Amino acid sequence: MTSTATQRCAHHPQRQAFALCMSCHKPLCQECATQWDGIWHCAKCLGAKRRAAKPRSRAVGWISAAVAALLLLFLSARVLVWAGALIAGLA
Ligand SMILES: [Zn+2]
Ligand SMILES: [Zn+2]
Repeated sequence: MTSTATQRCAHHPQRQAFALCMSCHKPLCQECATQWDGIWHCAKCLGAKRRAAKPRSRAVGWISAAVAALLLLFLSARVLVWAGALIAGLA
């Protein structure tokens, strides 16, 4: 009576494995397996992957947001100066 064909979840021994973590190759149930970039991960490996991936994307997001805000500020200042000059010229 061996059940080597049906693997059990690494975190839930009573549950049948649904997917394999592609990082640590642990069998995972539907609740434990999370797909990220089309690859199955366990919670632990997903956390490590997210931590590794986040700082770069977050910095890029902050920089682009700052550049966009500065550009908007610059443009609105230019428009204000231009409008002021136009009004002063007309008056
Ligand atoms: Zn894993
Ligand atoms: Zn599980």
